[in-house]
Amino acid sequence: MTEADRAPMHVLVCNAGSSSLKFSLFEACSETQLVDGGIDWQAQPARMVMRVAGLPDVRAEVSLQSHGEAMARIIHSFSASPIELPTHFEKLHAVGHRVVHGGDKFTCAVRITPEVKQAIGGLAELAPLHNPASLEVIEKVEEVIPQAPQFAAFDTAFHTSMPEYAKVYPVPRSWTRDLNIHRFGFHGLSIAYCARRAIEMLGKKNARLIIAHLGNGASITAVCNGTCIDTSMGFTPLDGLMMGTRSGTIDPGIIMFLQRHRGMDADSLDHALNFESGLLGVSGLSGDMRAIVEAMPTNPDAKLAFDIYAHRVRQTIGSMAAVLGGVDALIFTGGIGENSAPVRQAACKGLDFLGLQIDRAANEACKPDSEVGYADARGRILVIATREDLTVAREVRKLMEQEASNAVARA
Ligand code: ADP
Repeated sequence: MTEADRAPMHVLVCNAGSSSLKFSLFEACSETQLVDGGIDWQAQPARMVMRVAGLPDVRAEVSLQSHGEAMARIIHSFSASPIELPTHFEKLHAVGHRVVHGGDKFTCAVRITPEVKQAIGGLAELAPLHNPASLEVIEKVEEVIPQAPQFAAFDTAFHTSMPEYAKVYPVPRSWTRDLNIHRFGFHGLSIAYCARRAIEMLGKKNARLIIAHLGNGASITAVCNGTCIDTSMGFTPLDGLMMGTRSGTIDPGIIMFLQRHRGMDADSLDHALNFESGLLGVSGLSGDMRAIVEAMPTNPDAKLAFDIYAHRVRQTIGSMAAVLGGVDALIFTGGIGENSAPVRQAACKGLDFLGLQIDRAANEACKPDSEVGYADARGRILVIATREDLTVAREVRKLMEQEASNAVARA
């Protein structure tokens, strides 16, 4: 059977952020995105956008405060859409959710059952802004479209293959054993997409890849033959690289110093390291890389913020190359990785010894997906527009097909 002969499979993918809900509707067999959009209520009034291929974007201000309300609103606007969408819900085959934290329990995507919901909720302490939000969306879908099977794909799942020596922190063993404190890693759905796309672009099956996901959050992952070998984020998404407003790795001694000498408690440290550090903390200006690059020529603090950022990316690329024993391709993705030529240029400075040499003209002209290194180099450099939503749709399709063939085998 060719792809064209298959019955369509309409999958709605939901991605709950801390105060946003993005969605994409796919025909999953042909991997065609029919609609996408989202609602963001970080600032009030909340704003909704819905994009349908070939039509002008639909934009609206909406009044809502929660993920449940946002999901209800999205479902409602599908019904009121100017084109016929497969959302008369007997035509919607499944709903897939990006769930940030799957702990050790979820090593791959799963169908959502009451036990799975309970496990997602049980991990709320490790992802307080995300897991409860996903749960609220899942429950709203159950209420409004009870016939649609739901699936969860986890950002942590890709990293569960990491070897133990990369996963375990050198701390008292009781912390690891009793409290389950170890490196989880994040951005797994993006990494999975980029690893697969890189293999397509490179035209080879097995490769040592370093994937730099540089967005508001940022991490670098070493992938060998499709498997995670190491990653820079850890127990929480605060670890590793410098980010927009997050510090990334700092000497843990600083925390004790501030507790003892400034009387800072867990909440104030949490806030300072997650929301007042990174590019924003160093520049005093902004956590947005665009503003930093613009201000750099005249603002020394913005220049320092940029230099630290690039230094840490370069340093982490080097350490991942060591872990992999060489690199076949370096991949940039995420808002900064895809769009910021100056960051890519600075991050690759001095990496010629790894066979990674950036082509300045190609880098400046880059439109993802494209190559910004040299095709005949030992290490290639690619820029890939990440598609976490498509990874979720693919996982849902795979599980639906498995379930269908299991049902045939049982019959
Ligand atoms: P998230 O991690 O929330 O998914 P994104 O991957 O969309 O975020 O990345 C958002 C960040 O990308 C912004 O904060 C901004 O710093 C950066 N960014 C977007 N476009 C550009 C650009 N043209 N140049 C530099 N940085 C950019």
